Amino acid sequence: MDYKKSYLLMAAGVWGGGIVMLIGMFLGTSSPDTMALGNGAAGLGVFAMLLGIGQALVFYKCPHCGEKFSIRGKKPDYCPKCGSKLDL
Ligand SMILES: [Zn+2]
Repeated sequence: MDYKKSYLLMAAGVWGGGIVMLIGMFLGTSSPDTMALGNGAAGLGVFAMLLGIGQALVFYKCPHCGEKFSIRGKKPDYCPKCGSKLDL
């Protein structure tokens, strides 16, 4: 896994998971009939978000020196530690 894939997976996990979680929360509170389904979807969304962030904590780092990048904020153009150019 390289840092580019890791970043994409993190973005997909956070956004996709967030949307699924919101849908789940909506379903879970709108009617008793959809509560179980909504809870399941919300749980799945949270799980996807945690998975996306969790793998980024491990794999989202400089391919040259291994410096871990901050997963918040925008993608860096250069590694803050070794200064190598990053083409994210
Ligand atoms: Zn570096």
